[in-house]
Amino acid sequence: MSAKYSLQAVATASQNRAAIESHPRIWQSNRYVYPVISRRSGGLSIGVNLNPDKRCNFDCIYCSVDRRIPGDVAPVDIRVMALELGVMLDQAGSGDLFQMPPFSQVTPELRRLNDIAFSGDGEPTSHPELLECCKIAKAALDARNLASVKIILISNATLLHRPRVQKALEFLDGCKSEIWAKLDAGTPEYYAMVDRSAFSFAQLLENIAACARRRPIVIQSLFMKIDGVPPAPEEVDAYGRRLADIIEMGGKLRRVQLYTVARQPAVPSVSPLNFQELQSIAEAVRRILSHPTPFPVEIFP
Ligand code: SF4
Repeated sequence: MSAKYSLQAVATASQNRAAIESHPRIWQSNRYVYPVISRRSGGLSIGVNLNPDKRCNFDCIYCSVDRRIPGDVAPVDIRVMALELGVMLDQAGSGDLFQMPPFSQVTPELRRLNDIAFSGDGEPTSHPELLECCKIAKAALDARNLASVKIILISNATLLHRPRVQKALEFLDGCKSEIWAKLDAGTPEYYAMVDRSAFSFAQLLENIAACARRRPIVIQSLFMKIDGVPPAPEEVDAYGRRLADIIEMGGKLRRVQLYTVARQPAVPSVSPLNFQELQSIAEAVRRILSHPTPFPVEIFP
């Protein structure tokens, strides 16, 4: 890399940083829809928060949702959500969004609208009208001829076996869509420590495998230091083996995304891994999965 290119890259990165680091799920007066420049999406992701009440059936030690501030417990009004989504898509399409800070700082290559993502302050599949919400997203994209824009469902995978959720997944199968399922551990003990859920690890793995047997999915996993210590090599090895189990059970994985803590975690003893630590987990996972062909493992330090 030349010195000139290197300086340009640094300038570009710092230009985008404000928008990438700005991850509030509140945008102007919106209740549900918010824009994000997402490293994992490589562009603009329009988030839909179906859990403004901040309730979740996980209690991850790294969660960045600030539950000291009470959420909005009113039922989600999906007509308001639809209106907000339409306005946001229009603002992204017209470029008006990129006139407003911090998005006015974003460099042109990251202004590409990549997706609508059901994510937010809890588990989106817990919303009783998930299917209807997916239909609203698809209709909003169709009305604007945005056939290349994906609908992404980001889930902790606990409810993927419910018939109501499966109907939404089947609807998404007919759209340009991706399911991103969370898996943060290789052993029940580490899962219990990190995700702090009453939901069993065995059922979680079965849900992910069953979902991946029906369509290729993305696995997203957060690794961190706890009390300054990265996950033990045995845990990383077990994690890679759980992914291998999913594939052996007939599951199809598009790719694995490894990331680390980027915002204030729920538990103060949690801190981010550095690039080398994340990279070494990725290499261990690639070694386990890369038979017979290399397996895509992406890292987001
Ligand atoms: S699943 Fe997501 S929202 Fe729920 S506690 Fe974990 S990080 Fe937070």
